[in-house]
Amino acid sequence: MTTKPRVSMRAAINAKCKSCIYDPFAKGLGSWREQVADCCSSNCPLHPIRPTPRERKSDGPV
Ligand code: SF4
Repeated sequence: MTTKPRVSMRAAINAKCKSCIYDPFAKGLGSWREQVADCCSSNCPLHPIRPTPRERKSDGPV
């Protein structure tokens, strides 16, 4: 019997969105997180929880 590797829900959602919209050749559109953040398919059930760019420490409150 083989066991499947465990994947977190967050990792699965990230992978789904990345495979859905990310174009690695469209450098002008930004990183995969930036491209996913720009997704405009608001009818997709994953849209509210899609991955977005991480905040940089320097972007925080002063
Ligand atoms: S939220 Fe956007 S990028 Fe993510 S799966 Fe849905 S349509 Fe694709």
